[in-house]
Amino acid sequence: MKREQTDVLVIGAGPSGTVAASMVNQSGLKVRIVEKQRFPRFVIGESLLPRCMEALEAAGFIEAIKNKGFQQKFGAKFMRGPQVCDFNFSEQFTKGWTWTWQVQRASFDTLLAEEVQKMGVQVDFETEVTGIRFNDTDSVTTVKNKDGEVSEIGARFLIDASGYGRVIPRLFNLDRPSSLPPRKTLFAHVKDIRRNDYDEPNRIIIISHVPGVWVWVIPFSNGITSVGFVGSPEFFESFKGTPEEQYRAMLAAEVNTDARFRNVEFEFEPRVIEGWSVTTDKFHGDGFVLTGNVTEFLDPIFSSGVTLATVSGHRAGLLAARQVKGENVDWEKEFTEPTMQGVNVFKTYVMRWYDGSLPDIFYSPNQNAEIKKMICSVLAGYVWDQENPYVKKHDRAIKALTELVRLESHSI
Ligand SMILES: Cc1cc2nc3c(=O)[nH]c(=O)nc-3n(C[C@H](O)[C@H](O)[C@H](O)COP(=O)(O)OP(=O)(O)OC[C@H]3O[C@@H](n4cnc5c(N)ncnc54)[C@H](O)[C@@H]3O)c2cc1C
Repeated sequence: MKREQTDVLVIGAGPSGTVAASMVNQSGLKVRIVEKQRFPRFVIGESLLPRCMEALEAAGFIEAIKNKGFQQKFGAKFMRGPQVCDFNFSEQFTKGWTWTWQVQRASFDTLLAEEVQKMGVQVDFETEVTGIRFNDTDSVTTVKNKDGEVSEIGARFLIDASGYGRVIPRLFNLDRPSSLPPRKTLFAHVKDIRRNDYDEPNRIIIISHVPGVWVWVIPFSNGITSVGFVGSPEFFESFKGTPEEQYRAMLAAEVNTDARFRNVEFEFEPRVIEGWSVTTDKFHGDGFVLTGNVTEFLDPIFSSGVTLATVSGHRAGLLAARQVKGENVDWEKEFTEPTMQGVNVFKTYVMRWYDGSLPDIFYSPNQNAEIKKMICSVLAGYVWDQENPYVKKHDRAIKALTELVRLESHSI
């Protein structure tokens, strides 16, 4: 069997894997990516957050993305019936990026993979990891290509950025169920021909439909818009018929989607994704680290996925390079703790969204401008800024604010 050798092997050419590979490559080590699919390939996760720009910039991808003409994103608008709460990233507490993009992931991920190849990183597409053997911190990974040929790649360190593939957790039984309840989405890409009839036609909108159910509206620069309903599996059971019939009935039942998307044409038939929340026993081990979705994926409500993926990929790439060069790395302190810091802040916001606290805050008539800036920073992905009380004491701060806005609403 053919056997090749590299310093660092990265599994998966999504945003997490390409950022990680670029960081290793910049350190002068030999790095290679194996990717199961052929690109461009569809993956969900189209709304980015400003914080991910720092990781994309460190990886050397920003200029190429700028030239691609993706829709710029300057904030997000939350709507519930006639109520609106608009967040502008230019009005945030933390100093940092004030904008980002709304991207079709097929072209975005292809671009990142092309860029990392231009930097000299070998990317083997249609090459699936089927097994891994560890010998101390060295590993031998078995891969199978599209012609069914099996070969081995020896590596001094492995970065598992396989997203929903969850290669190492599955091979070594590390997966654990999430504490969040199961949720489901029905979504499509639609021809948004009436977009310009609306105020801020290219703004992302998150619509509170009924309690526990929300809708994303993510306009792309080519006139196509991604629209998806998210809720408990039971919500979807009340709609009958084909996915298209169900989807059209949902659009018609929500006042903020009805007129804009009535009789829209689809780029593809509505699709279902469900049961995405998952976690794992550990984020690292002898000779490997998990990044991006392989660590813990929570929920799409605050678009945290690509930001956590690129930030963890960036950190993992730097640390892996240090370790392979012989430095001592405290993976728990330098990787797991900061990764969990980001996950935990978002987890609070996800839980407080679904229990109705954040909607009450967002749609409260008495908005405190300073607090709104702090929450805006979290929504921009700046979940590591310990100067921000809504990061540092995330759970307590949101609970206290919820009590306050609820008290105020009763006394009106
Ligand atoms: C309904 C829904 C909506 C979402 N919306 C958003 C959003 O608006 N914004 C946002 O930031 N995030 C969103 N997300 C999350 C987003 O999809 C992920 O967080 C993000 O794609 C993670 O990137 P990644 O690089 O970790 O993995 P991925 O982008 O999934 O890339 C992993 C790659 O690994 C490859 N792979 C898998 N198995 C193997 C194998 N055995 N061998 C080799 N390669 C393999 C895959 O083919 C894939 O290309 C959403 C998620 C869901 C479920």
